[in-house]
Amino acid sequence: MSLRIAFLGLGHMGRPMALNLVKAGHQVTGFDPVDAVREAVAKEGIAAKPSIAAAVDDAQVVISMLPTGGHAREAYLGDKGVCAGAPAGALLIDCSTIDVDSARLIAKEAASRGFAMVDAPVSGGTGGAAAGTLTFMVGGADDAFGRAEPVLQAMGKAVIHTGGPGTGQAAKICNNMVLGISMIAVSEAFALADKLGLERQKLFDVSSKSSGQCWSLTTYCPVPGPVPTSPANRDYKPGFTAAMMLKDLRLSQAAAQAAGAATPLGAAAASLYTLFVNDGQQDTDFSGIFKMISGE
Ligand code: NAD
Repeated sequence: MSLRIAFLGLGHMGRPMALNLVKAGHQVTGFDPVDAVREAVAKEGIAAKPSIAAAVDDAQVVISMLPTGGHAREAYLGDKGVCAGAPAGALLIDCSTIDVDSARLIAKEAASRGFAMVDAPVSGGTGGAAAGTLTFMVGGADDAFGRAEPVLQAMGKAVIHTGGPGTGQAAKICNNMVLGISMIAVSEAFALADKLGLERQKLFDVSSKSSGQCWSLTTYCPVPGPVPTSPANRDYKPGFTAAMMLKDLRLSQAAAQAAGAATPLGAAAASLYTLFVNDGQQDTDFSGIFKMISGE
């Protein structure tokens, strides 16, 4: 079924996601504050509008892909934002990675104004956004999830209902805390292997078939060679930047502190990525932390 969809935030992720909605036959309006972005998407089948209000005014579904919780609060709850301008009954889907508290606040306000809403952050990066193979982690009521699922399927390969409002964001930051810690663990193992005279390929051959096996090793190996498609083979060109990893680790640390959860390895990972980013490596792929750990 063709829907009228408003897409807010047409950056590295949002633009290819919105284009997949166009390809799926939906009528897509879009807003981004950057003039050049609006001009570019207008040539690609997205009706670019000059404001959020203009983009959402007859939308059946509103989707957003914004940088932070502050941007999302402003876009949804501001005077000229989505909740003030979207038609009653519209379905709201925030795909940004933001803090759990902001996601729950926006969902509560949206519900009080009669909107169904889900938080639906993604895994899969810009490659997954372009290929339409993202994984969506979706927090919200059953009926809102039921309406969101077919829309999200046009942009992804897996759409998982994680529970009530905010649980999509919780799943995202827990998953990325595992990823940050495991990338550091794999990097430490290769750095130690180097010092012990163990060839990198041999460590890979053993660990990829042993209990050290994990995604950071076998899909995204942080040293060049064993996995030809990993960013290590193209001088750590991203992929997923160190700045993005640090953002997600900080979100997990803020959530852990607020919830009283002990995450000592998550805290260490956040500190190590802070050192890496402060060293000017914010735009390096996050697997480049191997260079810092090994001293290369
Ligand atoms: P980006 O900076 O490329 O895009 C964000 C866009 O939002 C920008 O074009 C910006 O101009 C626009 N924007 C800012 N305020 C706005 C507003 N009020 N209304 C409409 N648009 C507005 O960032 P990105 O890489 O596309 O990431 C977007 C979100 O996706 C982030 O929350 C990020 O953590 C998450 N994410 C990114 C990746 C990745 O690999 N890039 C992977 C998973 C999740």
